[in-house]
Amino acid sequence: MLIGADWCDAASGRRLEVRDPATAEVVTTVPAAGAEDVDRAVKAARTAFEGREWGGARPVDRERWLLKLADLIETHAAEIAEIETIDNGKPLVISQRVDVPSAVDFVRYCAGWATKIEGTTVEPSLPGFRKNEFFAYTRREPVGVVGAIIPWNFPLLMAVWKVAPALAAGCAIVLKPAEDTPLTALRLAELALEAGFPAGAVNVVTGEGPSAGAALAAHAGIDKVAFTGSTAVGKRIGQAALENMTRISLELGGKSPVIVLDDVDPAVAASGAANAIFFNSGQVCVAGSRLYVQRKVYDAVLDGVSTIAGKMRIGPGLEKGTQLGPLVSERQLDRVAGYVRTGLEEGATLVAGGSRHGTRGWFHQPTILTGAAASARVAQEEIFGPVLAIIAHDGDDDAVAIANNSVYGLSGAVFSKSIERARAVADRVRTGTISVNGGSFFSPAVPFGGYKQSGIGREMGKLGFEEYLEVKSVAEGVK
Ligand code: ADP
Ligand code: MG
Repeated sequence: MLIGADWCDAASGRRLEVRDPATAEVVTTVPAAGAEDVDRAVKAARTAFEGREWGGARPVDRERWLLKLADLIETHAAEIAEIETIDNGKPLVISQRVDVPSAVDFVRYCAGWATKIEGTTVEPSLPGFRKNEFFAYTRREPVGVVGAIIPWNFPLLMAVWKVAPALAAGCAIVLKPAEDTPLTALRLAELALEAGFPAGAVNVVTGEGPSAGAALAAHAGIDKVAFTGSTAVGKRIGQAALENMTRISLELGGKSPVIVLDDVDPAVAASGAANAIFFNSGQVCVAGSRLYVQRKVYDAVLDGVSTIAGKMRIGPGLEKGTQLGPLVSERQLDRVAGYVRTGLEEGATLVAGGSRHGTRGWFHQPTILTGAAASARVAQEEIFGPVLAIIAHDGDDDAVAIANNSVYGLSGAVFSKSIERARAVADRVRTGTISVNGGSFFSPAVPFGGYKQSGIGREMGKLGFEEYLEVKSVAEGVK
């Protein structure tokens, strides 16, 4: 792992096994950082933040280094995509066409912000003084040292979602990748050094959540924690951060509703709904895991989604033609299988899949449940796997009500041939993002984040960048 300029082991010497989800075999090991290592990394970041080389770098320098980093990721795209697939399990075409190019685009987008940081000038009014006897202005300063903790579903992309805006703002960062998928974060750190970033601007500590992650979130030396992961862990991190008034941005769980209205072409809606849940084997925070279909088209859409599920090619990510890769870990496979059992115990009916696929690796069939109550656990809790609950609704008001019956508010989707109708529904769904007729909100310039228990703050877009800046108001006496 990288601390300052030093590629180092954990102080304890402990290591973590990194497994290929397609085979369950160990491919390599990485250091298992503990509190002592995290402390060293935070200090290295602080030194860089306050130092001449990084702390004193000009906005154009930060922009240039970020653009160089984007170029290097692009140059090594094939290799990085392969590492991602071996580590996470996802189909190679997804790593190649989604993860890596999205990361490159986002780094370039953030590079642009480095040179566009502006404050304001303000005319103050003070009792007893005349106009122009005082002057005030605001500056946007980097928030400081950032601790970033990320999940395993889009390892490289989640890393750059934190690293790139932090560096554009002039922050130094300590990144802790997920224990299941540490490899592309390490490669990113190598490339950051090659791109010219001064030592200590980017530090990567590999380690487990309850030890390295918790130590980072609770460290008094960090100024902001940026987290993506489960709501349960996000709450713990938020509480630890509050102890030091550390700024937080939390991108947490979701149970995203996909609402299909009765004027759709059922084939179009079915294909959109299948993609929303089965992409990345459902290991997506915005996975459309609750499908609400208006009664008139219910049978046709259910048929369409079931047919797609039944035909998906399940296989290793490196195998040509694979559409559905394995889940990331044995733990995740057990979790998904457990939810399918729970759904059936709660009275749902299985219409597709339902079981583990094969005996080697951690594959699970695309699975569809019908007849679950809106309050059932499979319709309320985040599963993070290829498991879809399909429920009928009785029209726009009913759909909005069931969609909003959730502690989560990350995202949603609406399908309708009438843009007015779709938009009216979209406006009433309480989520941070919503897609209409298959629109995608994962563009660097579009803010992304959750309402309700899906998080605090935004990533991407100007709003996401500003989460890495403080505001300083400076008041000057003119006379
Ligand atoms: P999942 O359960 O799907 O792995 P998590 O929210 O547990 O999702 O994991 C997301 C990230 O949070 C990972 O990097 C993990 O190491 C980290 N993490 C897990 N538990 C903690 C914790 N108690 N404190 C800080 N980070 C944690
Ligand atoms: Mg792995």
